[in-house]
Amino acid sequence: MKMVAFALAPIVWLTGLSAAGKSTIARGVRERLTQSGARVEVLDGDSMRESVCRGLGFSREDRDESVRRIACVAELLSRHDVTVIVAAISPYREARAAVRARLANLVEVHVHCPLDVLEARDPKGLYARARRGEISNFTGISDPYEAPSNPDVFLNTAHQDAEESISTVLRFLNDRAKLHSYAPERY
Ligand code: ADP
Repeated sequence: MKMVAFALAPIVWLTGLSAAGKSTIARGVRERLTQSGARVEVLDGDSMRESVCRGLGFSREDRDESVRRIACVAELLSRHDVTVIVAAISPYREARAAVRARLANLVEVHVHCPLDVLEARDPKGLYARARRGEISNFTGISDPYEAPSNPDVFLNTAHQDAEESISTVLRFLNDRAKLHSYAPERY
């Protein structure tokens, strides 16, 4: 009897503070994987807030519910051989651990960048507004961020440019694909 190997496409979950580079890295990884022939979807926290997470705010309960819903969508897509890249702050360790426990194909990536660098970057002026008190519950300023203690991939975007971060993620996926011998050489 011919054995058929079933393997789920990976779910790459980028967690980190606003402006750390999650969306930039997600788009870069998507571009490279798509060029290799993979089917890829990016689930970006900001756009999810306008769709499946609509109506949810920034309390801990709502943030955790957002993470849960994004994980649901990611799971469905990955079952159909779509590689999913999530770019969402996902600040609470417990909610991330629950996702990890449910999704065997999860790759947790901590996109780290020190706060002073983020405040200097501030591409949307959100940190300045949060410092002025114009935005409440702003992660890193007036709301907690619980950094992963043991992520699969750690990126420090203060020390590496987006291209290097993208390559680091791709290398990890490639190594893991070989380890599990599914879709080898795909990435
Ligand atoms: P996030 O999705 O984490 O909120 P974004 O990717 O939307 O972050 O924004 C990050 C901003 O920082 C972009 O304007 C990007 O060009 C810039 N940036 C500067 N240095 C880097 C780096 N090393 N890696 C990723 N983004 C960087």
